[in-house]
Amino acid sequence: TEPLLQVEGLKTWFETLAGTVRAVDGVDFEINPGETFVLLGESGCGKSMTALSVMRLIAVPPGHIAAQRIVLENRNLLELPERAMRKLRGRKIAMIFQEPQTSLNPVFTIGDQIGESLRVHLGLRRYSLRQRVLELLEAVGIPHPRQRIDDYPHQFSGGMRQRVMIAMALAGEPELLIADEPTTALDVTIQAQILELLKGLQRERGLSILLITHDLGVVSQMADRIGVMYAGHLVEQASRERFFADPLHPYSRKLFEALPTHGKRDQRLNVIQGNVPPLTQPFKACRFADRCDFAWEACRIQAPKWILAESGYHVRCHLYDPDIAPSRPPAGQDN
Ligand code: SF4
Ligand code: MG
Repeated sequence: TEPLLQVEGLKTWFETLAGTVRAVDGVDFEINPGETFVLLGESGCGKSMTALSVMRLIAVPPGHIAAQRIVLENRNLLELPERAMRKLRGRKIAMIFQEPQTSLNPVFTIGDQIGESLRVHLGLRRYSLRQRVLELLEAVGIPHPRQRIDDYPHQFSGGMRQRVMIAMALAGEPELLIADEPTTALDVTIQAQILELLKGLQRERGLSILLITHDLGVVSQMADRIGVMYAGHLVEQASRERFFADPLHPYSRKLFEALPTHGKRDQRLNVIQGNVPPLTQPFKACRFADRCDFAWEACRIQAPKWILAESGYHVRCHLYDPDIAPSRPPAGQDN
């Protein structure tokens, strides 16, 4: 099958007083029809900027999107006029965010807000529009839609507001749903329910999902494939099963080590030592070198390229590069 979305060499840079911030710096991935691709990474690694770039929702200037291609169904989104892009948002690609409060308008009923999406995207009016709103409320699991359709956002709980946002996102019958930390603001039980809802909707509608999270639990529940982001680019891509069995990249291994130990749930996440490098400099070395337990000289003079370590598993690390790995000194003599 042809991928639904292909992103190649995405760079989203911002001009600031401190210099050029390379927030997204060479990101490649693709999403197949009906699949969930998860972007995993710490905050500030460029996940949200990647999503907003796909939607072309970066303010330019100060932003600047360069990519070879962002292709959705054989069309390069970077070449579309803004007018065409506006049509495509909501209709082909829709997006939901972490905080439904801030995305819903407090002065309109949820029926009016979902209805507005239906009017804009599908041209529905009056009775058919109201019927469709009710169907959507039903589809996202809001109990008693007829009694809730004229309620205002503040009359809903956080989880129910996120369901309303999902209904709005589905109004245009998109093929790709981008969900940026959709459950981060919710408690664990509600989070699980929303993720189940997304999975159910995906099964029914054949939706592709680009899910953004910093939470390995969410990844394990949702991902078909996973891309790990670090300091503005992807460092590995693999299937969920393979990734959880034994991730290859040293950064991913650290993420697993940083999980709170079972039985000590109140313990804070062990933070990975060292800092993410500033994104204002072009990189000539591995971005993870200062925090990596395996780093050796090669890591500080040369940036790793994509290596196909095994079937379906791409990793950006010298340890897996047959031309470079042999230069690594035996254990105990590195660094
Ligand atoms: Fe660590 Fe070197 Fe691999 Fe970078 S290239 S992740 S520093 S081993
Ligand atoms: Mg974010």
